[in-house]
Amino acid sequence: MTSFCHPGYFDAGLADVDPEIHAALAAEEDRQRDGVELIASENIVSRATLEALGTAMVNKTVEGYPGRRYYGGAEHADMIEQIAIDRAKALFACDYANVQPHSGSQANLAVFLAFLKPGDTVLSMSLSEGGHLSHGSTANLTGKWFNIIHYGVREDDGFIDTDQVQVLAEKHQPKLIICGGSAYPRCIDFQAFRAVADSVDAILLADMAHFAGLVAGGAHSSPIPHAHVSTATTYKNLRGVRGGLILAGETSLERKLNSGVFPGVQGSVILNAVAAKAVCLGEALRPEFKAYAHNVLNNARVLAATLVDRGVDIVTGGTDTPLMLVDLRPKNLTGVVASDSLERAGLTCNKNGVPGDMQPPGITSGLRFGVSAGTTRGFGAQEFEIVGNLIADVLCGLEGKTADQGQLEGRVAAEVKAMTQRFPIYGTG
Ligand SMILES: *Cc1c(COP(=O)(O)O)cnc(C)c1O
Repeated sequence: MTSFCHPGYFDAGLADVDPEIHAALAAEEDRQRDGVELIASENIVSRATLEALGTAMVNKTVEGYPGRRYYGGAEHADMIEQIAIDRAKALFACDYANVQPHSGSQANLAVFLAFLKPGDTVLSMSLSEGGHLSHGSTANLTGKWFNIIHYGVREDDGFIDTDQVQVLAEKHQPKLIICGGSAYPRCIDFQAFRAVADSVDAILLADMAHFAGLVAGGAHSSPIPHAHVSTATTYKNLRGVRGGLILAGETSLERKLNSGVFPGVQGSVILNAVAAKAVCLGEALRPEFKAYAHNVLNNARVLAATLVDRGVDIVTGGTDTPLMLVDLRPKNLTGVVASDSLERAGLTCNKNGVPGDMQPPGITSGLRFGVSAGTTRGFGAQEFEIVGNLIADVLCGLEGKTADQGQLEGRVAAEVKAMTQRFPIYGTG
């Protein structure tokens, strides 16, 4: 019999079929196990989520929405997508959910397409003050094809100034106003944003990518009752697969939003991702997730307070979300130097611009830390106090207060490894 597949095509494992990729994947698991993950966009998904991602659902193609597909054989796909939709609605107490966006950026782009024509005016927070690429950055499609006006944060305290948003809205008459960002650590006054939007007849989009888990777990106010439409990512703080969600309190925008996603900016559905989204949304509906969300917020505050105690400057002085932003300018350090040193010490984070930053994006004057992943593996206040002190040790060293930075990084890395061994992930627990 002729075979058009390699031996073991249907049954051999990755280690046998492709040892090169298998080794890299195994090494990545080791890296995640042994380091402290402080990148705010990251988390650690459940084994159940990993399992949902790797099934034969990968083979299935559908376009359209449950019950209205363009291909046959969709009954199981329909069931899974409908469960994901129903869970998203229950979790966020809303009447509309679209679970198809491949990413948060795709979700936002679909919202642009649903309400705007090229050239229309959008008011959003600038990337350099904490916004997101997909909110109209000049390098992004949204920035190239739409007229983007940016609001920022107050120079003296780093908070959003909704009076400035109102002034800009009256002056520029945007069709869409966006709140929510990637590096804004504080609660956003969704009600005030809605009042601004209503005053100029604009649509309000709340992008809760970084704090969706807190909203789901009741540890942060929800934008859903205030915004016309909200977007979220299912990874990051929501602790699930990489992907996006679009949500709205009521169903009047359903047609526009659904066609914004498909056929607007996407074709077929990534069904294994939708299955994994359903799993993550189901997990977030469990009582443990509420406790998780409250612990994330507490841990973020402990980490921020520990850093402040050690003389590290935190933008706005603290946080109401899973993330915080360090301003390194008082220490005369750059984000790139600090994040590289922290990484060598087993503390993975990202360099990040701070409001008013004069350094280019490849260098920056800041660091962003998030506690979602550490909290998932079981870190509590005690561990984040240790993490905060280790970070401060590394930064002090870079300021020239320690003779041998390499030795300091080695000492911190050993402490990090000892701590992570007490909080194992995947298979070792
Ligand atoms: C992360 C993020 C997104 C989505 O990013 P993707 O990488 O496209 O998933 C969207 N908006 C904000 C504010 C974000 O932080």
